[in-house]
Amino acid sequence: MTTVVWLNEVGKDDVSIVGGKGASLGEMINVGAPVPDGFAVTAPAFRHFIDRSGIADDLFASLKVDVNDPDALNRAERDAKSIIFDAEVPPDIEKAVKDRYLELCEREGEEVFVAVRSSATAEDLPDASFAGQQDTFLNMRGADQVFEAVVKCWASLYGARAIFYRVEQGFDHEKVNISVTVQKMVNSEKSGVMFSSHPSTGEPEVMIEAAWGLGETVVSGSVSPDNYVVDREEMKILSKIIATKEIMAVRDPKTGKTIDAKPVPPEMRDKQVLSENEMLELAEQAAVLEKHYGIPQDIEWAFENDEMFILQSRPITTISSGTKAEETGGDGKILVTGLGASPGMVSGEVKVITGSKELNKVRDGDIMVTVMTTPDMVPAMKRAAAIVTDEGGMTCHAAIVSRELSCPAVIGTKIGTEKLSDGMLITVDGRKGLVYEGRLEVAKEKASAAAAVSVVAQKLITATEVKVNVSIPEAAEQAAATMADGVGLLRVEHMILGLGEHPQKFIEEGREEEYIGELVKGIKTVADAFYPKPVWVRTLDAPTDEFRGMEGGEIEPHEHNPMLGWRGIRRDLEQTHHFRMELRAFKKLHELGLTNVGIMLPLVQHVSELVRAKEIICEEGMDLEKIDLGIMVETPGAALSIEDFIAEGIDFASFGTNDLTQYTLAVDRNNENVASIFSELHPAILKQIEYVVDKCNEAGVTTSICGQAGSYPEMVKRLVEIGISSISANIDAVEVVRETVARAERIIMLQALRER
Ligand code: PEP
Ligand code: MG
Repeated sequence: MTTVVWLNEVGKDDVSIVGGKGASLGEMINVGAPVPDGFAVTAPAFRHFIDRSGIADDLFASLKVDVNDPDALNRAERDAKSIIFDAEVPPDIEKAVKDRYLELCEREGEEVFVAVRSSATAEDLPDASFAGQQDTFLNMRGADQVFEAVVKCWASLYGARAIFYRVEQGFDHEKVNISVTVQKMVNSEKSGVMFSSHPSTGEPEVMIEAAWGLGETVVSGSVSPDNYVVDREEMKILSKIIATKEIMAVRDPKTGKTIDAKPVPPEMRDKQVLSENEMLELAEQAAVLEKHYGIPQDIEWAFENDEMFILQSRPITTISSGTKAEETGGDGKILVTGLGASPGMVSGEVKVITGSKELNKVRDGDIMVTVMTTPDMVPAMKRAAAIVTDEGGMTCHAAIVSRELSCPAVIGTKIGTEKLSDGMLITVDGRKGLVYEGRLEVAKEKASAAAAVSVVAQKLITATEVKVNVSIPEAAEQAAATMADGVGLLRVEHMILGLGEHPQKFIEEGREEEYIGELVKGIKTVADAFYPKPVWVRTLDAPTDEFRGMEGGEIEPHEHNPMLGWRGIRRDLEQTHHFRMELRAFKKLHELGLTNVGIMLPLVQHVSELVRAKEIICEEGMDLEKIDLGIMVETPGAALSIEDFIAEGIDFASFGTNDLTQYTLAVDRNNENVASIFSELHPAILKQIEYVVDKCNEAGVTTSICGQAGSYPEMVKRLVEIGISSISANIDAVEVVRETVARAERIIMLQALRER
């Protein structure tokens, strides 16, 4: 059994020995990338420790608990970790780790700071990913400290979140091992990121961003980096933009800890970070890595004492899930028109659906035509190549779900179900909102809404955060692939309405735990995909007419105007048992380590609603210090009394412009007859937004937008100018929004410079 191996002794086939992390670092070294020196404590070494120390029986017995019981789960973590910490590590393993560290120091000529990172592997499934569930320890120095960190990494295999995850995914605890990598931390004088190909066009142009000091400033976006573009085929520098670099991150020589924002000495602020030779050296390395992996790479690099290091290389996230269909405009006859609610162009056979019983009619690749979709139609929507509805606006159920399913959709055609009939062959253009007769030549495949925007997600770092809205857990992965800075709105309505049974039915039949379990499951899928980035979950906000369609929904009152009726926070505060079930789900998620879950309250109009909601949250045993709590600003009432909410205490305020617009302009958001005057750019809306942002900025409260308007470039530009902290867009719009934000920010900076 090998206890420790140098990273250059392993490669991509050694995942079961050194974990995914160790194997990928080894692989990069093998293709000649200058990766910082280090070694891995192998997974067999961990196994050996378990077997020889005689703790196996007790350890695995301690994990046999009901993982849905938070107390039992936390107890399991406590017990398992203390079994690990109390066990005696065989002296030969301890010695091998310490000796290897000392050898590393000898090679480096000093006692080095190292990063100690966990990498879990499943014996029978070497590719299983447990990323992010175990611990990492940075800036460790000295053999004792390094060894201690290795043992802590081992113990982190038994954190509550990791235990829960394995049980839920059906992994046997006994078959999951852990390897630990120990790698020298680079103390760079300059660093940054680069894309091996142009992230939007795919051209062989390496885009490099560079700043002084450690890489954190570039990765986090806290500094404007220099930007260079190198043609890697001609090895020619195409452009250089030298930014003013105000701050840099440096390492404290004593503790090894990062000092985040040290001012850059004046003479270096406007100085070009990289020499031309260094740019070319990086571009050459980028080409090697892209060639080796076969796809464009997003690479972190650094220079220490003029020596180049590659810290990480991973694929530029492809958000395409289908083949992009070229849009030609076509010369086919237009049958119906509506709102282009989800982009993409496809052809298929019409299936008109008049009720839930007919959903089986929709086969893969058909075009579903219906008056309006409902949550029970989601399985059929997944099979459909496109969706056409008679009713609805840009924010109705059909529009939101189609976008998340990357399914082209034309909404609010008024006459779709009348004009289109079963068996007709049509082509749907979900960008322009057109439905053509027949199959247009190029529209043969289901186009991904995301692909219709771009092939790759561009990792442009902006000061204004760009987040994403999610409504169905199935969209979590695709949403995370946009590399958004978090989820600015997770709507739970779609999850709850999708259960088919009214929440009250769960309560009456004593099935509260089942309901809470469903919520935990759905939210967890999203929170896991984004962890540790924030995910703001909005409490239930479905109007009575939507609830009525569910089993047990007959109890819903008939309201003259459901949009102005019993929904959102006003309902939560009356039907507190429903609200409390949601809060219990949030609490459970926090207990599972998903502390990135925040709470957002919908449709508030008076501060007293916030006061009461907070009381209930505290009654449910949640600590408001430890959870992000915010409000939706979607009524003029909330917008114009924002000071009261700030004084009462909120972490964030997010504009729900769909409702704010309908309530300010008296325009029903779901009524296609008035869709043409539904405008979020109306001065009255912008005034309210500006007022709220100003007040929040004065008070240090985060602002965001999660209404549909956050996906519109014109609105985004205004919001950046107004000074909003973040923007949450639809999945298909994240990239365009990020570009719009970046441009708007640059214009502001340029103007400021010119005015100096
Ligand atoms: C809004 O009103 O803008 C919003 C985001 O909430 P919903 O669309 O779910 O009402
Ligand atoms: Mg709303």
